[in-house]
Amino acid sequence: PKLAEEDLRSPICCIMGHVDTGKTKLLDCIRGTNVQEGEAGGITQQIGATYFPAENIRDRTKELKADAKLKVPGLLVIDTPGHESFTNLRSRGSGLCDIAILVVDIMHGLEPQTIESLNLLKMRNTEFIVALNKVDRLYGWKTCRNAPIVKAMKQQSKDVQNEFNMRLIQIITQFKEQGLNTELYYKNKEMGETFSIVPTSAISGEGIPDMLLLLVQWTQKTMVEKLTFSNEIQCTVLEVKVIEGHGTTIDVVLVNGVLHEGDQIVVCGLQGPIVTTIRALLTPHPMKELRVKGTYLHHKEIKAAQGIKITAQGLEHAIAGTGLYVVGPDDDLEDVKEVTMEDMKSVMNRIDKSGEGVYVQASTLGSLEALLEF
Ligand code: GDP
Ligand code: MG
Repeated sequence: PKLAEEDLRSPICCIMGHVDTGKTKLLDCIRGTNVQEGEAGGITQQIGATYFPAENIRDRTKELKADAKLKVPGLLVIDTPGHESFTNLRSRGSGLCDIAILVVDIMHGLEPQTIESLNLLKMRNTEFIVALNKVDRLYGWKTCRNAPIVKAMKQQSKDVQNEFNMRLIQIITQFKEQGLNTELYYKNKEMGETFSIVPTSAISGEGIPDMLLLLVQWTQKTMVEKLTFSNEIQCTVLEVKVIEGHGTTIDVVLVNGVLHEGDQIVVCGLQGPIVTTIRALLTPHPMKELRVKGTYLHHKEIKAAQGIKITAQGLEHAIAGTGLYVVGPDDDLEDVKEVTMEDMKSVMNRIDKSGEGVYVQASTLGSLEALLEF
């Protein structure tokens, strides 16, 4: 059956790659914010989620004259930490996404966590595009702020173009060594089999329009079924955090369905299932990030996909990385509780309970898990 446009949810895109390749900076560039400089040591330590409304994507891609009808309401982008001890958070983020951006530094090529990310993507059969970032670092690069990449490339000297091509070929070869075919996106004739590379600069914005358009076009073209809106709630807890004035809150990614203020929910707790009622559904302003302290927008209901902060009573012992379930009018509470705690088993299996070791304390469960791993 032909699907109405309003039936598509926003695709979820995860941004992955080695530390310092420019993942956070790329997001900053699209948003026009500066999260990266506010981070501890410039390293992302939690998962951030940012919603880009379709109007914004349309505006940023108009120079490409794609006349592409955007059928999706927007794009939800999840930023993940690149430091090696954050494997758990990386896999949590990538497990939720419909498509990923794998960021590679053009000056460094494939690095250890690039390969780790690649393996996660392969394991889950996740579609991805490669952002070949920091093209502005090619010696003699002429800035063409926010320009489509082909246009920017035409402005460059022969020397810059040669260096670019040489590095590109090396990186395509490195991908081949990992068993993957890759090609510049505008030369890629076999999308789906050959992965697309988009050259970008997160500092001056070249290639950003191309990256956004490619993400949206590719997802809405090939994932209609997966992106079809469903009323069945699919929701994952990413973080458990105490927020001044709100008490213990949970940051969730709503992958599908609708959440309402007042919904009865069940989440996994250390001492068993937590049954509570949604007091407030909060989001940052569009284009701002869930992690960054600021004012929140209150919502009566929220439709997927979206990154949401939920306030409710009794969330103190909620466990990140597990599912959130809504108790519907026809549901049996005991059944929902049981389903919820299934996730707990898999989390507990990852923890060494032999009883010897060190005492670790951290501000969020996400970083605690990372420390435990480390
Ligand atoms: P992440 O660890 O992948 O999130 O990387 P960051 O976004 O924190 O960026 C790491 C460093 O690289 C920062 O100093 C950025 O300013 C710098 N950087 C990121 N993208 C670019 C780029 O496109 N060009 C240049 N010249 N520097 C960049
Ligand atoms: Mg980062």
